Amino acid sequence: MIFAVIICFNAFTHGKFSFHNTVYKEKPEMEKITDLTNIPADPYVYCRKYKEETGKKIVGYTCSYTPEEIIYATGALPFRLFGANEGIHLADANLQSYCCSLVRGILEEGLSGRLDFLDGAVFPHTCDSFQRLSDIWRINIAHQFHVDLVLPVKLNTESARQYMIDVLEKFKKDLERALGVKITDAMLSDAIKTYNQIRALMMRLYALRNKSPEIISGRDFHSIIKAAMIMDRKLFLKALGEIAARKERASDQKIISSNKRLVLAGSVCSHPDIYDIIENAGGVVVGDDLCTGSRYFEGVLDEKASPMEAIANRYLDRPICPAKHNGLMDRGENIVRMVRENKADGVVFLLLKFCDPHAFDYPYIKEMLDRENIPCMLLDMEEQLPSEGQLQTRFETFVQIL
Ligand code: SF4
Ligand code: SF4
Repeated sequence: MIFAVIICFNAFTHGKFSFHNTVYKEKPEMEKITDLTNIPADPYVYCRKYKEETGKKIVGYTCSYTPEEIIYATGALPFRLFGANEGIHLADANLQSYCCSLVRGILEEGLSGRLDFLDGAVFPHTCDSFQRLSDIWRINIAHQFHVDLVLPVKLNTESARQYMIDVLEKFKKDLERALGVKITDAMLSDAIKTYNQIRALMMRLYALRNKSPEIISGRDFHSIIKAAMIMDRKLFLKALGEIAARKERASDQKIISSNKRLVLAGSVCSHPDIYDIIENAGGVVVGDDLCTGSRYFEGVLDEKASPMEAIANRYLDRPICPAKHNGLMDRGENIVRMVRENKADGVVFLLLKFCDPHAFDYPYIKEMLDRENIPCMLLDMEEQLPSEGQLQTRFETFVQIL
């Protein structure tokens, strides 16, 4: 809410609330940047307008294990479902209250009818809560189509690669049937090129922010990542290229930050306020292991390999989330490596209440960090954050011990 008010205030004072007027026509550079940070504040306005103006289909998806490239190749817009941040009532009639707020929030949005612009939804089978969400969604929400994507859980076996490719081939056929489109290799390779360019630019921005964290605020960075999961990807790519070029020029001014450097770890973070609070407490986020962060962008697809093989290889090779298995210590080792590479002073775990996969991983990762003398703190979160003052005090205390 606070975020929406600030954005509205900024937008109106600068006269840049342009995405309400048009979403796909060429626009002046500054307006595009304002769009990137405004769109996540009200993504449904963007989607409705996008659909009205382009006539394209919109496919909802729930998790970073969705092969967006295949959806985008059909001409449809992949739209990440983040769920309601407050006021979850309808979902409670269908899901136990001990499901994480992300899953309950997504179901709430579906049941409320606010997602009626979707033409279908895709559910990768990852954690138990997402699998149950898929079943409930199929029964209760009458969108045009519903596709389950049963990817392998163990990624480090002989058979995982071929099984992953077979599942992706089936997914392609399911989408062709559902959307009435034949997906050619040329369509797939065009989509893969677009996603590769987005990922490469995002990694450039990550590197820049690592070097000079003040050149882009955590809030803006978070909004850009969310916009990547909402906007038309080619338009996003163009706007992102302009931002990256401008920020690269700004980074030459060598701004030196004295804030403590932090890595965030967890599932999804839908609270841009967290970044402000961290920065006000004397910290700065220089790396993350989040689905709304580097886990979404890491790994470029091999454009010379067959499309399905390239997509499968990325899922098998990129850092995993705890809903997948790639060896007992894989996530912990990845977080330690990230701390070292980013010269971070500590790690903050953002744990959504009732998220079993992340809660089960936490003790062993903490042990690994303790052994490496890397301080960490654990923040339990729900759809609503604890009060700002309380959070500020916790972060200030953590930053002081670093
Ligand atoms: S933590 Fe894993 S299962 Fe949960 S949304 Fe992220 S990628 Fe999907
Ligand atoms: S991985 Fe955790 S946060 Fe993500 S959907 Fe599953 S239970 Fe919820």
